[in-house]
Amino acid sequence: MKTVLVAGGAGFIGSHLCEFLLEKEHKVLCLDNFVTGSKENIKHLNENENFELIEQDLTNSLELKQKIDQIYHLASPASPVDYQEMPLETMLANSFGTKNLLDYAKKNQTKFVFASTSEVYGDPKEHPQKETYWGNVNPVGLRACYDESKRFAEALIMVYRRKFRTDAMIARIFNTYGPRMRTNDGRIVPNFATQALKNKDITVYGDGSQTRSFCYVSDLVQGLYSLMHSGVHSPVNLGNPEELSILDFAKKIKELTKSESNIVFKDLPEDDPLKRKPDISKAKEKLEWEPKISIEDGLPKTIEWFKTQVTDS
Ligand code: UDP
Repeated sequence: MKTVLVAGGAGFIGSHLCEFLLEKEHKVLCLDNFVTGSKENIKHLNENENFELIEQDLTNSLELKQKIDQIYHLASPASPVDYQEMPLETMLANSFGTKNLLDYAKKNQTKFVFASTSEVYGDPKEHPQKETYWGNVNPVGLRACYDESKRFAEALIMVYRRKFRTDAMIARIFNTYGPRMRTNDGRIVPNFATQALKNKDITVYGDGSQTRSFCYVSDLVQGLYSLMHSGVHSPVNLGNPEELSILDFAKKIKELTKSESNIVFKDLPEDDPLKRKPDISKAKEKLEWEPKISIEDGLPKTIEWFKTQVTDS
């Protein structure tokens, strides 16, 4: 039985990963400081004797009493609204937080997977984005606290890899959706789903011609797990290449929820990337991974979950 630490395990993706690892009969230590994660997300895991919660902020120092075989580092605010409200916490989680975990991994020969992001590509000039693309990031813009700290973390990981042979891997995660996204995290899926379910205006930023590609959370979790076992020590894109314009996405949600909402247009946020779509040939070849859940299957499941949230609140 392996002992696996999931930093950020009470967050959206983290909680699904904890669940998946418990199903694989691992012992799971979920580390979270609950700035964006929630106890609600892991409530159902508490009864499992292989699950343990460590309430700790990994940006200070890391105290781990048990020997750990694998670490997944997903501890960072990830929605543009969240990370712009908590820019310092975000930068520290990805810099000091990553360093603390890497030091543990180095000392104990622990395997390490880092949740990086498609945001390292910034507003990309290459489309779709391959791992070899270096990106087009504004280093002093409002998104820099996230983009640049993830880029710093990637650079740090590569230093540990080259200097100490630390067994560390980098996942560049593209837009991911599914149950347990926070209704108020400000991202497109929670915003559009709750607006549509409440028959309120659906707020499209800009003219809605910008694109994103959406991956269902169970596919993403499987990708992270495959990466952990791959021995691929250079960044790997994980996402679903099914690309949609934001306006089409709004229409799709409106249709699926049979909503009477109007679609309205608001200002485009600063540095909002115009296009985003992963090239996943590397993941296909090296991890034998590709997403299985299309937007047509994943969105209805997600909307069902948001229905429970909307009526509860
Ligand atoms: N967006 C939107 N309306 C919303 C929330 C987001 O039009 O209420 C747009 C946003 O401008 C961006 C895309 O949806 O182009 C995805 O935004 P999100 O915040 O989910 O994540 P991002 O991919 O920008 O990190």
